[in-house]
Amino acid sequence: EAKSLGRSRYCFYQTGMQERVLERVQLESDLRQALVNGEFTLHVQPQWNAQRSMVGAEALLRWQHPERGIVSPGVFIPLAEESRLILPIGEWVLRTACQWLSEWRFNESMSDFILSVNVSAVQFSQEDFVQQVQRILSEYDVVAGSLQLELTESMLAHDQQDIITKMSELKALGVQISLDDFGTGYSSLSYLHQLPIDQLKIDQSFVANIEQGEKNASLAESIISLGHNLGMEVIAEGVETEVQFNWLAEQGCDLFQGFGLAKPMSITELLDSLK
Ligand code: C2E
Ligand code: MG
Ligand code: MG
Ligand code: MG
Repeated sequence: EAKSLGRSRYCFYQTGMQERVLERVQLESDLRQALVNGEFTLHVQPQWNAQRSMVGAEALLRWQHPERGIVSPGVFIPLAEESRLILPIGEWVLRTACQWLSEWRFNESMSDFILSVNVSAVQFSQEDFVQQVQRILSEYDVVAGSLQLELTESMLAHDQQDIITKMSELKALGVQISLDDFGTGYSSLSYLHQLPIDQLKIDQSFVANIEQGEKNASLAESIISLGHNLGMEVIAEGVETEVQFNWLAEQGCDLFQGFGLAKPMSITELLDSLK
């Protein structure tokens, strides 16, 4: 009958929800184990200048789950943020990056290499975030200028005074600051120029389909001039084709990153490619 059918449908719907919730809870508890079990690795994606020299790389976190295989950061980073597990995970990322930088410091071909590390809003809003960075830099004896922190534009919507203070303190340490996914957030221009940002990172959505033109192309072009007018370096992410690379280079874009140049790889692969 209609009534029991409705009921069973309701139950079916409930079960689906429940499964999703359980799946999340399971993944979250796996995430808790992942650091202890050493299931994280840090991959790197090279960044190139217009002359096609590799000048640095972005560190990208990978989770090798024992049963599920590789879980994408798009899935586990939000979970890690909600559970605040991003704090110990983010610290591990920073330490791993700084350990590499310290190994490269006296290596002639690597001493100018810049490593960019993504920082979550949850990490950045910690009261002692700057102190943590300072502590790790000195522990590994890293030249601060070789570490770049990627903050997202959407983070700028929060406590502005706190952001200005922390960014200035990071700059005082000598760390570089990049604004990731630029163009997808909503920072006001008057605020942007008050911030000690070294680099704007054009979001990949503006780079995609640049060759088909108009809207994306003119947005990318505007971001390049905006960055340069504010004295910042501009990097494009998600560069997949030669046409995109050439067009961006023509507009004066400083640096390039994307599958068309190199995909994220292990640190061993990156070092081998430099030999
Ligand atoms: P993101 O920082 O904007 O990183 C760029 C993402 O674009 C990476 O995805 C990269 O693999 C991908 N990508 C690079 N080149 C291309 C391209 O040419 N085409 C396309 N379609 N994609 C490209 P990934 O590694 O899956 O990371 C996704 C996001 O997860 C990152 O976006 C970042 O927000 C976050 N994430 C990754 N590692 C970390 C980390 O260590 N800490 C934190 N807090 N977040 C991280
Ligand atoms: Mg990034
Ligand atoms: Mg990005
Ligand atoms: Mg992005």
